[in-house]
Amino acid sequence: MPDAPPPAMVAARRIAAPVVIVGGGPVGLALAVTLGKAEVPCVLVERQLTPSFIPRGQNLTARSLEHFYYWDCVSELRAARLLPAGFPIGGITAYESLAGDHWYAPPGREAVADFYYQRNERLPQHLTESVLRSRLATLGPVTALFGWSVTSVSQDAGGVRVAARQDGGPGRCEIEGDFLAGCDGAHSLVRERAGIGGSGEDFGRRMVLAVFRSSELGERLSRFPLRTTYRVLHPELNGYWWFFGRVDETETWFFHAPVPDDATAGNFGVRELAGLIGRAAGSAVACDFQHVGFWDLRINLADRYRRGRVFIAGDAAHSHPPYGAHGLNTGLEDAVNLGWKLDAVLHGWGGPGLLDSYGEERRPVFAETGESITEAIADDRAFLERYSPRRDRAEFELAWSGRTSAETAPASYEPHYAGTPIVWGPAGAVSGVRGEHTFEARAGHHLPPIKLSSGANVFERLSAGFTLVALTADQRPVAAFQAASRELRIPLQVITDSYEGPRTAWARRLILVRPDQFVAWTADDPPADAVAVLRRAAGYGDPGPGRRTGSRGDFEP
Ligand SMILES: Cc1cc2nc3c(=O)[nH]c(=O)nc-3n(C[C@H](O)[C@H](O)[C@H](O)COP(=O)(O)OP(=O)(O)OC[C@H]3O[C@@H](n4cnc5c(N)ncnc54)[C@H](O)[C@@H]3O)c2cc1C
Repeated sequence: MPDAPPPAMVAARRIAAPVVIVGGGPVGLALAVTLGKAEVPCVLVERQLTPSFIPRGQNLTARSLEHFYYWDCVSELRAARLLPAGFPIGGITAYESLAGDHWYAPPGREAVADFYYQRNERLPQHLTESVLRSRLATLGPVTALFGWSVTSVSQDAGGVRVAARQDGGPGRCEIEGDFLAGCDGAHSLVRERAGIGGSGEDFGRRMVLAVFRSSELGERLSRFPLRTTYRVLHPELNGYWWFFGRVDETETWFFHAPVPDDATAGNFGVRELAGLIGRAAGSAVACDFQHVGFWDLRINLADRYRRGRVFIAGDAAHSHPPYGAHGLNTGLEDAVNLGWKLDAVLHGWGGPGLLDSYGEERRPVFAETGESITEAIADDRAFLERYSPRRDRAEFELAWSGRTSAETAPASYEPHYAGTPIVWGPAGAVSGVRGEHTFEARAGHHLPPIKLSSGANVFERLSAGFTLVALTADQRPVAAFQAASRELRIPLQVITDSYEGPRTAWARRLILVRPDQFVAWTADDPPADAVAVLRRAAGYGDPGPGRRTGSRGDFEP
C-alpha cells in the first residue's frame, strides 16, 4: 500500500477559518493561543518547521508572564529556562570596557515587580516559542501549518484569501477567512500587500549579533554582582552599545555591537569579532562562535495597524533596536490586545469600533517606546561627549554616579491606553508609555494585582470577558451592570468584596476590568447609565438612539 500523504497536505488544500495568521514566531503563536483558548478557529502558517536557535528576545517582562499565566502555560515556560530559578535578571553598565573602574548595576524591572501578578523571566526566545508551540498543539480550534510559506494575500469586502505552499514539498493550499493577522516579522509580506507604509529613525548603523561559548568570560565577570546583561558605553560608539547577554549560567553568551557600515560575513569574520569582544571585555577572551549575523539599526513603525480585514502585529508593525528588551514583550501585548477584540467581534459581542481600537491603543505605545529608545541613545551620546575621566575625573565620577536614571526601561515606562475611545480615561488623556506605576485603579491602565479578602489574588478571579470588581455593600451598581450585560449580551462576571485592603489600594469602589486585565472604567458611585459604560468598553461608542447591530460584515478594505 502506498504511504499516506502527510496530514498537512490533505488538510491544507482548501481551508476556511474566521482568522488566518501569517507567521508563527512568538507573536503569531501568542495570537493563535489567545484565539484557540477563546474557541475562535484559526489557521496559522509558519515557514519554519522548528524555531530558530538564536536566543534573541530573552527578557520577558512580568506583564508578559501574566499572558503565559492566562494561556495556562506559565509553569511550562518557567521550567524551560536555562538559568537557575532566582538568578538575578538585570544588567551592569560599564564605561569603556568590562574591565574598567567605572560601572553600576541599575535597578532592573524588579523595581515594578509588585505591580504585576507574575515575576519576570529570562530564557532564549526559541524556548519561549517551543512552549507556545506545545500549548498550541493542545488547542483544537487552531490548525497550524509549520514548514509552509505564504505566497500571496488579498482581501475584499467579503473576506481574506491566503495562498501558501509547503516548503520543499508539493503541498499548496488556499485559506479563506474573515480576518487576517500578519505576524510575519519586520519584512512582513502582509504589511506590504495590505499597502501599509511605515516610518522611523534610521540610525545608519550596521550591527553584528554573535552567539558564542566562553567560560572565560563568565569568570571575568565574577567581579560584578551576578547579572544577566552587561552593557559597555564607550566614547567611540556615539551612544550605541557593546552588549553581552547570558544565555545560560556559565558559558553561552550573545553579543551585539556596532560594526563598520560595509561589514558582511565576508569581510568581518571571527577574527575581527573576537577582537571586538576582547575590547569590550577589556582584553582577549577565548570564544567558540555558534552564530554570527548582521543587521541594520533602525526603528520602523507602521502608519496603521489595520487595513480593512487585515491587521499587523509584533515586528510586522514595529521594529527597533534591541535596546531595552521591548520587541518581543510589545509583540505579545499586541497579540493579547488584538486577540480579545477578534474574539469579541467573532462571538458577536464586540462593537464596530472595537477592532479599530487595536491600533488606536497599541500604536501610540510603540511610538513612545521608539522615542524612549532614541532618547536613551542620545542621552548616552551626550553624556559621553560631555564627560571624560581623562579630561576631569572628579567631574566624570560625579556625573556617572547619577546615571542610573538614564536606563531604557525605567519605572516610569508604563504602557497605557488612557486616551483611547473605549476606556473612560480623563479628558485630554493621551495613550502611550509615559506614566507611573501605582496601585490606584485607573481607567486605561493595567489593573494592579491585589489580594481579595478570600486570600486569592484578583488575577485568579478575573474572567475571559469583562469583570466588574465591586468593593461595596451597595447592590445597585452590580444589578445595573448585570442588567446591562444581559441587554447588550456582553459577557460580564462580578467579583464582590468588602475588604478594606483592596479598596484602599485601588482607591475605587467599582472597577470594570477588560479581558486583557486593563481597566475600562472606575467610580465610587453607581454609574448613571451602566449600559453606556459597557457599550463604550465593548466598542459600540457612546450611547445614542442606535440599536446594536452585528459587526462582522462592516469592514470595507
Ligand atoms: C539581538 C536581539 C535581541 C533581542 N532581545 C529582546 C529582548 O530581550 N526582549 C524583547 O522583548 N525582544 C527582544 N528582541 C526582539 C524580538 O526578538 C522580536 O521583537 C520578536 O522576535 C518579534 O516576534 P514576531 O513574532 O513579531 O516576529 P518574528 O520573530 O520575526 O517572527 C515572524 C515569523 O514569521 C515567519 N514568516 C515570515 N514571512 C512568512 C511567510 N511569508 N510565510 C510564513 N511564515 C512567514 C518567520 O519565519 C518568523 O518565524 C531582540 C531581537 C534581537 C535581534
